[in-house]
Amino acid sequence: MTKQRSLRVIDCMYTGREKVAAAFLLKEGDSAAIIETNTTHAVPHIMKALQEEDVQPEQVKWIIITHVHLDHAGGASALLAQCPNATLLAHPKAAPHMIDPSRLVNSAMDIYGEETFQELYGEIQPIAEERVRIMEDGEVLTFGERTLRFFYTRGHANHHFSIYDSHLNAVFAGDSFGIVYPQLQSKGLFTFPSTPPTDFDAQAAIDSVDNILATGATTVYPTHYGPVTALDAIGSSLRKQLAMFDEWIEEVDTSGRPDEELDDLFYKRVREHFDTMLQSLGVAKDDPWRVLLDIDCMLNGQGLAFAVKKRRYKRSKQK
Ligand SMILES: [Zn+2]
Repeated sequence: MTKQRSLRVIDCMYTGREKVAAAFLLKEGDSAAIIETNTTHAVPHIMKALQEEDVQPEQVKWIIITHVHLDHAGGASALLAQCPNATLLAHPKAAPHMIDPSRLVNSAMDIYGEETFQELYGEIQPIAEERVRIMEDGEVLTFGERTLRFFYTRGHANHHFSIYDSHLNAVFAGDSFGIVYPQLQSKGLFTFPSTPPTDFDAQAAIDSVDNILATGATTVYPTHYGPVTALDAIGSSLRKQLAMFDEWIEEVDTSGRPDEELDDLFYKRVREHFDTMLQSLGVAKDDPWRVLLDIDCMLNGQGLAFAVKKRRYKRSKQK
C-alpha cells in the first residue's frame, strides 16, 4: 500500500443511483477496515475501490456493519468471501442474523417478493461463527495507531452501533445521524430521521444524536450519505423532528384511528412534512430527488405506524 493512512468514501450505487448509500474504506499501515457493506451488488464497487487504493483483499482486517438492515449488512457475506482474513464486527443483536440470515432473508422476501429481493440485495449466505466478533457498548479497538470506539446508538434500530475514529475525529453513524442526501443540500440543509419498522424509538433516537455529538467529532459519516460537518445544525433539526414524530405517535395512538389506516395516515403526514421543508428551501416540486424521497416517506410512515401498533399491543397484553 502506498499511503499510510487514508479514508475513502465508496459509492455503493445502491438501487443504481449515485450517492444514496456509502461504504467506507480505512487504510491503516498495511491493513484496512471496511465500514458498511451495502448489498451483494455493491461488492464489485468495494473491491474496485480496494484495488484503486492499492489494498489487497488479504489486507482487509475488519469488516464492520453498523446494523443489520440490508442496505448496510446485505453485502457482508459476499465481501467476507472476497477478503479471506477479515473478521466481521457486529452488534450482539446483529451478529446472530449474520451467522444465520434465514429470518432476515425470509422477512425481507415476504415484504418484497423473491424477484425484487434478488434485484435489491442479491444472494445472502450464512457467515461462519468464528469470523464474527461481537462488539460491546463502549468497546475500544486498537487499529494501528488509531482507535475505533464502538457505542450503541438505538432509536433507528435496536441492533445499531456507531463508531468513533480517534484519528479522523469522526463518527461513522450508520442511520443514527439522519439521512442527508447530498443531492438535496444545494438550497440549504435538508435532513430527516429514518424511522423504519420495527424498533423505532424517538427518545432513544434523540439520545443517540446527543451521544454522537458528545464525542466531540468534527465530522460525521451518515451512510446515506457522508461526510457532513454542519453537526449542530443537523443535530437540532433531527431533535426537533424526532420530538414531533414522538408527538404524532402519542396523538394517533389515543385518537382511536384503526390500525389498518395507520400506514397511509403516517405516510401522508411524513410526505407533507418533507414537502413543507423542501418547499421552504425552494426545491422544485418535480425535482427527481424530491420524488424519490417517496420511498423514505413510505418506510418512515410504516415505522411510525408500527410504533403505534406496538404500544396498543403492549397495552392489550397488560390488561
Ligand atoms: Zn437502517
